Amino acid sequence: MPKTIFERILDREVVADIVYEDNHVLAFRDIAPQAPVHILFIPKQHHARHAAVPPEHHGIFSHLFAAAQKVARQTKLDQTGYRLVINNGPDGGETVPHLHLHLLGGRHLGWPPG
Ligand code: AMP
Repeated sequence: MPKTIFERILDREVVADIVYEDNHVLAFRDIAPQAPVHILFIPKQHHARHAAVPPEHHGIFSHLFAAAQKVARQTKLDQTGYRLVINNGPDGGETVPHLHLHLLGGRHLGWPPG
């Protein structure tokens, strides 16, 4: 299987604007931001998508959400509000098959999503 663009970012083969890293998670700015702040959180271990994470690896969900909370505080989005999104599969709008959590904020976000 060829590497996804996110695995290439993890392996530092592709440059990204990295804003956070810990033992489990890497976070970087989305290349096509949909809000003034748009950051992606990816697990260092490869999982194609939310639905593909086996129970023994469910700990990655807490690592992703905890990292997003830290960055929301660093960027002060916790003071104004933000949205966390995971797009899963074709109907979910997934375009990169490596699990990722979007952090969006810095403007009012409409609901329902398109
Ligand atoms: P999704 O549609 O949920 O699969 O989200 C994939 C996201 O990855 C999109 O918002 C893209 O803009 C973003 N993206 C794709 N390539 C890159 C890249 N090289 N660096 C940063 N973000 C990227």
